[in-house]
Amino acid sequence: MELHEAQERVDQWIHTYGVRYFSEMTNLAQLVEEVGEVARILSRKYGDQSGKTSDASYNLADELADVLFVLICIANQTGVDLNAAFERNLEKKALRDGQRHWSNPKLFGEPEP
Ligand SMILES: [Mg+2]
Repeated sequence: MELHEAQERVDQWIHTYGVRYFSEMTNLAQLVEEVGEVARILSRKYGDQSGKTSDASYNLADELADVLFVLICIANQTGVDLNAAFERNLEKKALRDGQRHWSNPKLFGEPEP
């Protein structure tokens, strides 16, 4: 699915099931909440935090999709074309960071435990 298709699918979903978009500020709070759910999973899987029984119901792929959904809502309601924006963003990063990471010795060898 292309990003513009995803934007259209989310718009259809909102108007079919969601009545209307939440306000931009509510969606910002929702985005932070969903990113927090991703952080919770990663913290317990890769970080030092131990998991709780209730954490078993969290699924990383599903939580990343929640983040994407809300991000697309914000793009739709603010008139952002994510296809065009992402293309421009990748070009910007390639120009800015073309050699930066290849000349970073910290990125070579085994990561620190
Ligand atoms: Mg979620």
